Amino acid sequence: MQKQENNLMEKIVSLCKRRGFVFPGSEIYGGLAGIYDYGPTGVELKRNLKEEWAREMFRRHESIFQIDSSILMQKRVWDASGHTAAGFTDPLQECKKCHHRFRSDHLAEVGTTKCPDCGGQLTEPKKFNLLVETHLGPVKDDSSLTYLRGETTQGIYVNYKNIKITARAELPFGIGQIGKAFRNEITPGHFTYRMREFEQMEQQYFVHPDQAEQYFDYWKKERMRWYLDLGMRKENLRFRPHAKDELAHYAKAAEDIEYHFPFGWHEMEGIHNRGDWDLSRHSEFSGENLSEIDEKTGKKFYPYIIETSAGADRLILAFLVDAYSEEKDRVILKLHPKLASYKAAVFPLLANKPQLVEMARKIYNDLKKDFTVDFDDRGNIGKRYYSQDEIGTPFCITVDFESLEKDDVTVRDRDTMKQERIKISDLKHRIDMVLFK
Ligand code: ATP
Repeated sequence: MQKQENNLMEKIVSLCKRRGFVFPGSEIYGGLAGIYDYGPTGVELKRNLKEEWAREMFRRHESIFQIDSSILMQKRVWDASGHTAAGFTDPLQECKKCHHRFRSDHLAEVGTTKCPDCGGQLTEPKKFNLLVETHLGPVKDDSSLTYLRGETTQGIYVNYKNIKITARAELPFGIGQIGKAFRNEITPGHFTYRMREFEQMEQQYFVHPDQAEQYFDYWKKERMRWYLDLGMRKENLRFRPHAKDELAHYAKAAEDIEYHFPFGWHEMEGIHNRGDWDLSRHSEFSGENLSEIDEKTGKKFYPYIIETSAGADRLILAFLVDAYSEEKDRVILKLHPKLASYKAAVFPLLANKPQLVEMARKIYNDLKKDFTVDFDDRGNIGKRYYSQDEIGTPFCITVDFESLEKDDVTVRDRDTMKQERIKISDLKHRIDMVLFK
C-alpha cells in the first residue's frame, strides 16, 4: 500500500514536470527546498483555482470585500499577532546527534519518534519562530528587522477599519484576499503540500460574538460544498475537529477540511472561530480602537472572527491527485472543466495540408478570444490526444477534410473518448455548456 501511494506521488510529480505544471525552484542550481515554480499549464490551473475561489467569495456571497495587502508589514503586527512571542509558535524537536530540527506535528504525521534524517534521539518539543526574516533599508540592525508575512490574514486585520469605513460595511461582513505567504518550514515536503513560499486564499468573516457559532457552521458547509462543486470526490474529503489541546489558546473552535492525499489524510483548509483575539490585540498594540458598540446593550465588544484559510498550492496538489487516473494506455487528468488549464485544443488532422492548418488556426484564434485554448499540429493525432489528456483538456477539436466542405469538426471528449461532429459555429456554446453547468 505504502509503495503504491509513493508511486502515485512520483507519477504526479513527474507529470507536473513533463506537462509544464510545476518545476522545482532554481532547478538548474540543484533546487531549493520547499520552493517550486509554476510553468505554463500550472499557471493557468492555479489562476483558475484562484478565480473560482474569488468568484465564490466575492460574487456568490454578499458583503465580502477584497483586499490586496502588502507582504511586508511593520514588525509590530507580528508582535500583536503573537507570531514573535516565545511560547506561541510551533513546537520543534531537535535531533541530539545531527542537530536537525523537526516540527512535532509533522513527526507525528509521518509517525516517527526518531530523527528522520539520522535516526538519532530527539529532544522534548520546544517553541520556534517560523517567520522568514528580512531587513528594510540600508542598515541591517534590530530596528530594520521585519518579516515576510507568514499568513495573509494579518493584512486583513490591519485594514479592518479602512474597509469597514470605505465599504460602509456592517457586521456581519467578510474581507478576503489571495496572496503569497512565507514560512521557514523545518521539514518542507510532499511536493507542493508543504512549501516555504506559497499562496493563501483567506477570508475573515467578522461577526457579533452571539453569531459566531452559527457562522462557524455556515462556513464549514459552504467551504465543503465548494470542493464538491468543483468535482472533488466526496470519499476523499472529511472534516477533522481540532482537539482541545491542539487549539491555539485564543481559538474557540477549529476544524480542518482534510483531503486523502497519497501520504494520508491531511489538512487542506482550516476553518477557525478565532474569537476576539485578533481585533483586541491589534487595538491594544496599535492604539487604534477596533471595537464596536452593541446597539441593544450599548456595551463595547470586539467582533469575533470566523476564518476560512486555504493554500492554493496545497489545493492544486489535492485536485491533481483527485483528477489523476489511468485507463489502459492513457493517463488522464479528469479536472473539472472550470479548473482545466485549457478548455479545448485545436488540431489540424494533418500538419502538411495548408487548408486544414489554416482552418484550424482560424478556429483557434476565434476560440481563444473567449477561452484558454491550445493549438497543436505536431506528431500523430493519437499522441496529441494523449498529451491533452495528461493536461486535462476537456475537448480536442480536429479539423479534417470533411470540415472544409461541411463547416464542422470532430470534438473528442476527454473522459469518454467519444467523438461527435459539431458545427464550427456551435463550438463556443458547447464549451460554455460544460463550464457553466
Ligand atoms: P500545517 O499544520 O499543515 O502546517 P497550518 O495549520 O499551520 O498548516 P494555517 O496556518 O491554518 O496552516 O494555514 C492555512 C492553510 O494554508 C493550510 O490549510 C494550507 O492549505 C496552507 N498552508 C499552510 N502552510 C503551508 C505550507 N507550508 N505550504 C503550502 N500550503 C500551506
